[in-house]
Amino acid sequence: MDWDLTSYFPEFGGSEMIEFRDALERDVDELLDRASGLSDLDDQNQDAWESLYLDVEEFATRYSHYGSYLGCLTAADASNEAYQVAESAFSQLGAVTAKVNAEMLRGIRSTDDDAFAEFCARERLASASYVLKRDRQDARFMMSTDREALAADLGVDGISAWGRLYDTISGKLEFDITYPDGRTERLPISQRRSLMEQSDRDIRRAAFEGGNTAWSTVEDVAAAALNAISGTRLTLYRYREIPHFLERALFDSAITKKTLDAMFDAIAAHREQPRKAIALKAKAMGEPGIAWYDMGAPMPFREIEVFDWDRACELVTRAFTAAYPDLGDFTQSMFDRNWIDWGPREGKRPGGFCTGSLLTRESRIFMTYNEAMGDMRTLAHEAGHAFHSYVMRDLRPFARGYPMTLAESASTFGEMILTEGIVSDPSVPDTQKALMLDAEVGHGAIFLLDIPTRFEFERALYEQREEGELTVTRLKDLMVETQKRVFGDVLVEGGEDPYFWASKLHFYITGVSFYNFPYTFGFLLSRGLFARFKQEGPDFLPRYEEFLRLTGSDTSEGVARSSIDVDLEQPNFWSDAITSLEEPMAQLEALLPKTLNAAPFARASGAGESAERNLGER
Ligand SMILES: [Zn+2]
Repeated sequence: MDWDLTSYFPEFGGSEMIEFRDALERDVDELLDRASGLSDLDDQNQDAWESLYLDVEEFATRYSHYGSYLGCLTAADASNEAYQVAESAFSQLGAVTAKVNAEMLRGIRSTDDDAFAEFCARERLASASYVLKRDRQDARFMMSTDREALAADLGVDGISAWGRLYDTISGKLEFDITYPDGRTERLPISQRRSLMEQSDRDIRRAAFEGGNTAWSTVEDVAAAALNAISGTRLTLYRYREIPHFLERALFDSAITKKTLDAMFDAIAAHREQPRKAIALKAKAMGEPGIAWYDMGAPMPFREIEVFDWDRACELVTRAFTAAYPDLGDFTQSMFDRNWIDWGPREGKRPGGFCTGSLLTRESRIFMTYNEAMGDMRTLAHEAGHAFHSYVMRDLRPFARGYPMTLAESASTFGEMILTEGIVSDPSVPDTQKALMLDAEVGHGAIFLLDIPTRFEFERALYEQREEGELTVTRLKDLMVETQKRVFGDVLVEGGEDPYFWASKLHFYITGVSFYNFPYTFGFLLSRGLFARFKQEGPDFLPRYEEFLRLTGSDTSEGVARSSIDVDLEQPNFWSDAITSLEEPMAQLEALLPKTLNAAPFARASGAGESAERNLGER
């Protein structure tokens, strides 16, 4: 491994680690006993509840330390059995922790408003009052304790069983592909995506068609699962007295309905912008428009010279330092302190993430550097996450959790600074610049067309599900209608994907609904921040850091209002964020004549990787 993990523990399985783990296991049991022994919060028992909250916060600090350590080890050496054993014991610790949390929600659910306000105002809790109020709101989404217990038990054989059934059938599904040379092969469906990212259009089409034939053989099961999952949710919302099916997702995202509408109104008003990006790609490929299976196709760029790890680090640091010296210094210190596991190695998990310990207040980055431009982008992305934690390092643990909508602000900001740095760096060849710009512009098409398609489909699904189950035909029609409306003419007639509702795993995650709009929100939010940075220059940066610091202490609207004086419920901010994509698109267009391969289908580049990495990250 490249990274230094000794600040977690001197060695895995050593006495420090064992004692630390044993203390966690002892303490969580004690916390659960105390929590379940406490009557609901009132005027009389505030001292006992306060002491419980503070002890839980201290426990969470150690819990994150140990969990982050095991997460690093199992990612870096996925087949190590000792790590697996430790991680499975840790997940049992997690189950007890969840029970402690449930008891804490129970305790504040029915407290009267005055007693609760008094509790939140206590000296040692006041700086965590946002989290307490959120917990109380969360608790109020619940039915009575015995009804919730019944729903949870039935859920094991109900909603989660449908999710597991989908995972099983999609995991076993295979498809037949007929290559352009007539050769046929049977492959697991998981290999379809990388085939649909090949430069050869005939291969992409063959994978798409073969894959959809396979999905059609399980369409009834997928439709039954989708109807059961959405139906169960609607029933539970009714019993929990949650008036609208979007409410839970909005709460989890810490945004209002008005903000969501403002964002989607701005997107609908500017659809031509991302459509132009797709038209540019179609033109580069010599096609009149694109089909669904062209979405992940690489631009046919010329063969490029690859950068080794040291050069990648140098380019990232230089780009950061030029625009944002503190971010550059911080990133250099991560290299100096060996906080990054980057080398390609057997047994290493794919993907990238940033993790950290609340105890040491240090971060670690996991990724694999395969010498593609997309990997350099991953480095800038994860460094942005680490910088976010660094900016929050002095805050109490309760003020350091943030929703998915705000989580990608600093990471995407880092990517945009890198793109600007690369484009203005005279030592970087044109093709690498074009690759970087293509990734940026390509993200626009994903977050402003593909993700809104998923959102609009899912919203219509829930609206129609209130009236009864949707047939396979209805699901296919609904998906095709949505794709046509969102993409417009750049999606060629007949190029839609009627089975996208069956093949997209996100619709079948039973723990979270609307696993789509937070991605678009996060993307546009950081573009909007970056647009302000470009307008206002370095004076903006202290307010940007204030924004990052507040992400665990307020709603999204509140964070934006008090740090950068922006009203997220108005469309202007979102419109500016979308139109900020015009500049990189114009730069890309200008570079294309110099960088495209004359033969239209050059070898695959790494440009498309980082967008889907974002989508698969959590
Ligand atoms: Zn991220």
